[in-house]
Amino acid sequence: MLSIQALIFDLDGTLYYNPDLQKKQLEVAISILQVHLDCSYNHAKKMFEETRSSLKKQFGYEPSNTYSITKIGIPLEKYLKESEKRYDAGRFLNKDKQLIEILNKFKQQFKLSLLTNNNKYQTYRMLNSLGIQDVWDIILTLSDTKIIKPDKRLYQLISKKLKVHPEQCIVIGDRKEIDLSPAKQIGMHTILVSGVFDVYKLRDKINKIIHNK
Ligand SMILES: [Mg+2]
Repeated sequence: MLSIQALIFDLDGTLYYNPDLQKKQLEVAISILQVHLDCSYNHAKKMFEETRSSLKKQFGYEPSNTYSITKIGIPLEKYLKESEKRYDAGRFLNKDKQLIEILNKFKQQFKLSLLTNNNKYQTYRMLNSLGIQDVWDIILTLSDTKIIKPDKRLYQLISKKLKVHPEQCIVIGDRKEIDLSPAKQIGMHTILVSGVFDVYKLRDKINKIIHNK
């Protein structure tokens, strides 16, 4: 039997399902680019899409919005500041009783951590709306680390902060290459979910890992 001590969750696309919010996040990214390049929204959108698709060819998977934006030349700090100001992600989400319940159950058994490419302010707004702001032992946002997933240093850092060996951690996320591959590389266990509906049913998958099945 494996000794699992900590669960590490991704946020966007993992702890909520909301296509409107994801659409808004993309629109905000493009409008920040628009101001930075001093061009039309459509031109910024085209530039963003071209950059993302060329990165996709290079990597073999679609990179995150943030990574694509910084590759175009917007400094990360500037991007973070702008994306905090332009909208309130919390307004898109509501209290999720099932999620609150399952995370509180997990908390009795594991350390819980959140690792996200989102900025600090939007992250806390979302957690508050979902009603899960108090369950975490550690929250690491892009504003804290300035390191973008899938950089494996993030997973080394979080294992250090949790004081738990990588082999004792399970990472839960919705993007295999971005959330899970770097974690696997340093020896963490991983579970791919396609949204919060899979998180409600996570117990069985965690038990399978613990019992090494
Ligand atoms: Mg995600």
